[in-house]
Amino acid sequence: VASQLRSSGLLRTQGLIGGKWVNAFDSTTIQVNDPASGEIIAEVPCMGAKETNQAISSAYDAFHYWSKLTAMERSQRLRRWYDLLIAHKEELGQLITLEQGKPLKEALGEVNYGASFIEFFAEEAKRVYGDIIPPTLGDRRLLVLKQPVGVVGAITPWNFPLAMITRKVGPALASGCTVVVKPSELTPLTALAAAELALQAGIPPGALNVVMGNASEIGGALLTSTKVRKITFTGSTAVGKKLMAGAAETVKRLSLELGGNAPCIVFDDADLEVAVKGALAAKFRNSGQTCVCANRVIVQEGIYDKFADAFSKAVQNMQVGNGFSEGVVQGPLINEAAVQKVEKLVKDAISKGAKLLLGGKRHSLGMTFYEPTVLSGVKSEMLISREEVFGPVAPIMRFKTEEEAIQMANDTNAGLAAYIFTNSVQRSWRVSEALEYGLVGVNEGIISTEVAPFGGVKQSGLGREGSKYGMDEYLEMKYVCLGDM
Ligand code: ADP
Repeated sequence: VASQLRSSGLLRTQGLIGGKWVNAFDSTTIQVNDPASGEIIAEVPCMGAKETNQAISSAYDAFHYWSKLTAMERSQRLRRWYDLLIAHKEELGQLITLEQGKPLKEALGEVNYGASFIEFFAEEAKRVYGDIIPPTLGDRRLLVLKQPVGVVGAITPWNFPLAMITRKVGPALASGCTVVVKPSELTPLTALAAAELALQAGIPPGALNVVMGNASEIGGALLTSTKVRKITFTGSTAVGKKLMAGAAETVKRLSLELGGNAPCIVFDDADLEVAVKGALAAKFRNSGQTCVCANRVIVQEGIYDKFADAFSKAVQNMQVGNGFSEGVVQGPLINEAAVQKVEKLVKDAISKGAKLLLGGKRHSLGMTFYEPTVLSGVKSEMLISREEVFGPVAPIMRFKTEEEAIQMANDTNAGLAAYIFTNSVQRSWRVSEALEYGLVGVNEGIISTEVAPFGGVKQSGLGREGSKYGMDEYLEMKYVCLGDM
């Protein structure tokens, strides 16, 4: 696969600064591995503060040009980028599977999803409207202008190597901002391929830069620079808090998409088939490695046994293996640390009385493959119901009343996605309102789309991505008062 990608010109292994492909200043590199085989796919530059500062300067210079283009001109180039992403869907999908491990079908789905943000924000670029406010004094006219924030630092994780980038870069470029992207060092190749296509689409040199290497050094350079006006981050809550603290020094704007602890509540009045299908999709997508993955399956006592049985059967049918193999729906976990975390959580749950219905150990395929696992009788004092699992383990918990379910669901510092399964319209409305979450899926386990706002409350983050609201994150409001009229 790697050689096929190389001949397509999309296997880029250098950083992108000011429109030029460059190595690290001191020529050091880091390896990118295929999580399914452990093989080294490529080496990319190990960059730090120096290269990041160069990228910031390039973005700062490019801002003057890019932000002054008409919205239509920016829109057309973004649309061209979207067309190129779709034209290269196969190669991008393969790259995602290669460096991240998800099944090829899911990877191709991510290309569509990732590209959709570029298409959507290409259109939104043309709809950045201001306001005219009725004045309080007759000789005045009051206006509100919307202007791009400036240079943006975007730091992204490995679980969606393309979509987490386009969801930030799309609205940033559409609004006239320029960007320094730092993809995860585990999955930089997809980001670099997407950047190559951006150049081909006419995104000018410096408008989109990509650096990678020493994460805390790159983060530090982005935080301390007064030229960088905003940080947008998707990743762990711990790093998000560090960035929030670091951004205080220069009072930067922040968007944070942090960890979740999604409840998936199945009520007695749910359609069993719909609930099993939805919970399965919400839990096992990307082998459980998304921040909106169902982390706790909370099931009402009347349907508990039937649900646990049907759900376990469905989980048992899932094929585990290399993401390139036909029929595989569960790939490897991203690395050894991820497997060890899952092992720790499962061990803790079983030691405190949870019952193993399925799986519970490393897969016979070795490497970082883990068996799809179902635990029953999980209680709130177990670590697995408090921490983000980020793996293919479904902990099932029991509840009696609706109030109890809501209390259990909200008993966490996280507040990103929640799912409920019920056939009562009234209950779905009532519970959706009561959940302290940024997104709620009712009778549906996969709800992310470019046209709807994505983001969390409590410690799951700040701001929203996607949708018309996603543009606001990259725009400043300016009030202009015309006097002596
Ligand atoms: P995950 O658990 O998803 O890997 P992380 O928060 O560790 O979440 O990583 C998300 C992104 O944040 C990655 O690009 C990573 O390199 C980056 N990162 C990690 N530590 C820092 C830091 N101190 N400053 C800036 N970025 C960081």
